[in-house]
Amino acid sequence: MKSIRLRPAKERALIKRHPWIFEGSIASGRADAGETVRIEAADGSFLAWGAYSPASQIRVRVWSFDVEERVDAGLFRRRIERAVALRARLAIQSDAMRLVHGESDGLPGLVVDRYADTLVVQCLAAGIERWKPAIADALVAATGCERLYERSDAAVRSLEGLTPFAGWLRGGTGEPPARVPIREHGWRMSVDVAEGHKTGHYLDQRDNRLRFMQLVRQFGCARVLNCYSYTGGFSVAALAGGAQRVTSVDSSAPALAQAVEHVALNAAGCGFDAARHTTIDADVNATLRRCIEAGERFDAIVLDPPKFAPTAAHAERAARAYKDINRLALKLLAPGGLLFTFSCSGGVDASLFHKIVAGAGIDAGVDGYLLERLEAAPDHPTTVNFPEGEYLKGLAILKA
Ligand code: SAH
Repeated sequence: MKSIRLRPAKERALIKRHPWIFEGSIASGRADAGETVRIEAADGSFLAWGAYSPASQIRVRVWSFDVEERVDAGLFRRRIERAVALRARLAIQSDAMRLVHGESDGLPGLVVDRYADTLVVQCLAAGIERWKPAIADALVAATGCERLYERSDAAVRSLEGLTPFAGWLRGGTGEPPARVPIREHGWRMSVDVAEGHKTGHYLDQRDNRLRFMQLVRQFGCARVLNCYSYTGGFSVAALAGGAQRVTSVDSSAPALAQAVEHVALNAAGCGFDAARHTTIDADVNATLRRCIEAGERFDAIVLDPPKFAPTAAHAERAARAYKDINRLALKLLAPGGLLFTFSCSGGVDASLFHKIVAGAGIDAGVDGYLLERLEAAPDHPTTVNFPEGEYLKGLAILKA
């Protein structure tokens, strides 16, 4: 077993059970991609077992802090069983949920989403890549799902020196999977696991979509603008909440086509007219400006942009972009209107996001009540010692 020795005083984060070791903290030692290493303090004492990743800034990710625990197929089986058991205890009201959420489930670099009887797996670190067959076996055993599709085509793979890959890991035929039908809060959705973003659906927003429906109903929001709509989850929620006119804005034509399908799929069941929904295939910032110039007004606006700041280094530029769209949305809202605004940037924490939105309100000359703080659904857990896991933050604001 190879050892990685840390520089003096660099063991502090590990003692607090943070699972990452950056390149700059390492005094000596190297290994192959994904190889298991013993991590030791400057004095040679044991700290953890981890996976070495020669191409990544995050040079080692921890598998276990327990000197007795062996890194073998059994470890992956136990971690996956624990992750699945947690979701069962959380009683998620959907047949679609995140089953494994990376570091928070003790499996750094692994994401597994369940869509009915299909699992979609993302392997985002060298250690996970190395243990993929054992992980696939453990997933089949713990869930009974026999169809595992891999979507390891995220850009972050290149930071790990891994090439993109998409295809069946278990089950399935040579063909990419067909759309997978799921239910979310009683709504019908159809997930494109082969071509959709990430694993196909933004599961982290599931409970916020339900909350949006409830608040649209409570405040009687008639005109709703869903910005960065993707496949229209918040639009279906708004229509189900009684909105009269809902507009989905996105720069992806395939996502908007699916939003139209999702609205049609739910019209009869939820009792709304699909003709109340329209789409705009355009940039959100430009659309908000155009709507303001045209003197339009909305009673509720959703802002759920992609990650503007992947890391803290991008925070300043991202802050300007967030402030800009929030300022425009606050202007465009009718008095008493509802803003559902989000950031999924790891580099912008909840308190910074709050300050950005407050600044946007000042620039817009708009006052608002902070109704609720929003976060990712509970199947995307955060652990106490890994605050980076808390990436999605949102605010529900009622314009004064
Ligand atoms: N709210 C969605 C998820 C949003 S993901 C849900 O609940 O499912 C972010 C979306 O923003 C993606 O669909 C992407 O196509 C879109 N997008 C990215 N940049 C954009 C831009 N500048 N203007 C409009 N849409 C954009």
